[in-house]
Amino acid sequence: MASEDVRGPVVTLDGPAGSGKSTTAREVARRLGFRHLDSGALYRALTLALLDSGRPETEWPTMTASALRRLDVRIEPVGGGFRIRIGGREVEDELRSERVTRRVSTLARVPAAREALLGLQREAGRAGSLVADGRDMGTVVFPDAEVKIFLVADLSERARRRLVERTGLEPGPAEVAAEAEAIAERDRADTERAASPLRRPTGALGLDTTGLDFEEQVEAVVAAVRAAGSSGKR
Ligand code: C5P
Repeated sequence: MASEDVRGPVVTLDGPAGSGKSTTAREVARRLGFRHLDSGALYRALTLALLDSGRPETEWPTMTASALRRLDVRIEPVGGGFRIRIGGREVEDELRSERVTRRVSTLARVPAAREALLGLQREAGRAGSLVADGRDMGTVVFPDAEVKIFLVADLSERARRRLVERTGLEPGPAEVAAEAEAIAERDRADTERAASPLRRPTGALGLDTTGLDFEEQVEAVVAAVRAAGSSGKR
C-alpha cells in the first residue's frame, strides 16, 4: 500500500456491465499501491441481505435508508481492497450468484438503497489512494475525484468476457447472444433509472476497451493516472 502519509488520488472507473471495470480497477490499484473499491459488490451485498431476510422484492422500493442500513452491510479494509460482511458474516462468491445478479439492478434503482451505501463508499475514499469502480463513482460518490475514467466496449465483446470470466471457456455464438441480452437489460435499467443513472462523468477520459487486451487496458488507465499526476491535476 501507499504509505499512509502520502495521499494519492481517488481514481474513478465507471462503465456498463462487462466493460472490464472491476478486474481492471483491481489490477490498476495493485500496480499503483492503492486500494480497490468494487462498489457493485456493495449493491450485490445489500441485494443478498434482502433476499436472505425474506423481504418480498415488491417491498424493496418502500424501504427507508435506515431500515436498509439495519441489514448491516459493512466493509473493512483488507490487503489491497475491502472485505464485505453482512451482519458479521463475510461474503464473497455468493455476491456473483445468478440469484443476486438477476435482482441487483432492481435494488440499485431505489434511492434509499443508494443513500444507505453512500457513506460506506465515501469513507473508503477519505484517505485517498483509491481506485473505485461502478456506475456513479465519478458523478455522485466521488464528484471531486482527481482522475475519472469511463470504460466502454461492444455489447457482444462484454458478453463474451463475462462468460469467459464465469466459466473459463470460450463461449459459442448462442451463449454470447443470450448473455448479451441479459447485459443489455441491465444496461437499460442502469442507464434509464432516475437515481444516479449510469452516464459518463464530466471531464472523464473515455476508454473503449473492445480491441484491447487486459494488459493494454490496465496500462491505459495507469498512464492516465500518471499523466494527471504530472499535469498537476492533483
Ligand atoms: O459492477 P457490477 O456488475 O457488480 O454491479 C452490479 C449492479 O449494481 C449493476 O448492474 C448496477 O445496477 C448496480 N451498481 C450501481 N452503482 C454502482 C455499482 C453498481 O447501481 N456504483
